[in-house]
Amino acid sequence: MNKIITTFPSQEGFNRAEEVLKKMSAQYEIISPGPAFRMVGVPALVMTPEVRAAFLQQGGETIVNPGWVSHKETTIQAPANEPETFKEDIFGRAMIVVLAPCIADPAKIRLVAHISGDLAQVFPYLNGHMQGASYNPNGPSLTFMEAYRMIALYPHRIAVAKADEIVDAWRALEMLRMETNSCWQNRGQITPSYEMRRKPPALEIYFRLPKTNCKQCGEKTCLAFALRLRSGEVIPRQCKPVFDGEFVHLKDALLEICQGLGVAGDNGGSHE
Ligand code: SF4
Repeated sequence: MNKIITTFPSQEGFNRAEEVLKKMSAQYEIISPGPAFRMVGVPALVMTPEVRAAFLQQGGETIVNPGWVSHKETTIQAPANEPETFKEDIFGRAMIVVLAPCIADPAKIRLVAHISGDLAQVFPYLNGHMQGASYNPNGPSLTFMEAYRMIALYPHRIAVAKADEIVDAWRALEMLRMETNSCWQNRGQITPSYEMRRKPPALEIYFRLPKTNCKQCGEKTCLAFALRLRSGEVIPRQCKPVFDGEFVHLKDALLEICQGLGVAGDNGGSHE
């Protein structure tokens, strides 16, 4: 049977949700971030759509969650160790506040996490030692690909597209916690780079457009618009269906990928 999954921005939210489910004597499973991912994740709940409907009726709708996606078994074996801590912790903790099917590949998930730290100062150092990152000093933001996953870092927020499932999402966030803190700890040995580099592929931009070829932007096709967006000849707002029309749900994803281009978006290039 198809099951769905959600998680919570706080442990308190999970505890309250579990209390409701226990009172209902409902069937559910818990996916735990374990010790290794505890700085970036709160347990997730798996249930059938029918149990969710009853859960929402029984008070679950008052408990804030980041969204629901299809449940997929993980192939990741999370390490059993406690997470490493850092003397100067610039990342802090991560709270997942958006969980949704990925726009570019609905079989995968997209998430947005708020972090309690501030990453702005580490971007030039990450940019100095990472291959293929794209730095936008005006955001500021740093975007890069981790295999097929697209990751965008902002000072207090992280967006990950194409994570496989929730455990992979926690793994990616923990990797970012380690990478940003290690980079900051070793910044004395890294030459910072303020250069903007590597644009996202045009196809990744195209996946975040409506693909209706409606021509309202003045281009014959969405792909032509994606190519011109990539080369900086047009700005995202020229796609009216995304900014003012029926495809407004694509706006955040389009703006996120455009951070890697350093072009002005909805609000001058930053939506931090
Ligand atoms: S306005 Fe947007 S949806 Fe219409 S063709 Fe241009 S890019 Fe595609």
